[in-house]
Amino acid sequence: MSIDYPTGVHTCCPASSVIYLTEAETKRLQVLERRYREKARLQITTRVQYYIAQMQQMHIEGICTSFSTLSIRDQKSRWGSCSSRGTLSFNYRLIFAPSRVLDYVVVHELCHLTHMNHSKDFWSLVARVMPDYKQQKHWLRDHGQELNLPEYLRRQGIDITLDE
Ligand SMILES: [Zn+2]
Repeated sequence: MSIDYPTGVHTCCPASSVIYLTEAETKRLQVLERRYREKARLQITTRVQYYIAQMQQMHIEGICTSFSTLSIRDQKSRWGSCSSRGTLSFNYRLIFAPSRVLDYVVVHELCHLTHMNHSKDFWSLVARVMPDYKQQKHWLRDHGQELNLPEYLRRQGIDITLDE
């Protein structure tokens, strides 16, 4: 587990507020995070399969849609990545984003299987698969920092800052 909400220590949180958690709260968050990670794995795997099928049906010349491994991580600064060995990695926090935004990251990484760069060809492939991708890309730029478990729970009305 990479979750890190140390007891009595401030954690990074976008609303510039400092949150303090009790040991019990920290444990509860860890249990929840594990569940959301599992959910993220299922959701992302489903969407990867969906878009691979979509892309194959488009019969685009020279396209590659085969990957070796799908991994779900909690990277601080990236939403996804694609290695030259065909490993797709996704940030589990995408589960807290609107589903179109999660889809955009899926499409983005799948397009890297064909173009391992951010060239014009890469972006035109992304646009072919998801014509409104720019909207999702901008959403992620503007709201990405809100995608974390404490923020998500707060939006659901679950107060986890009992010990402030
Ligand atoms: Zn990229």
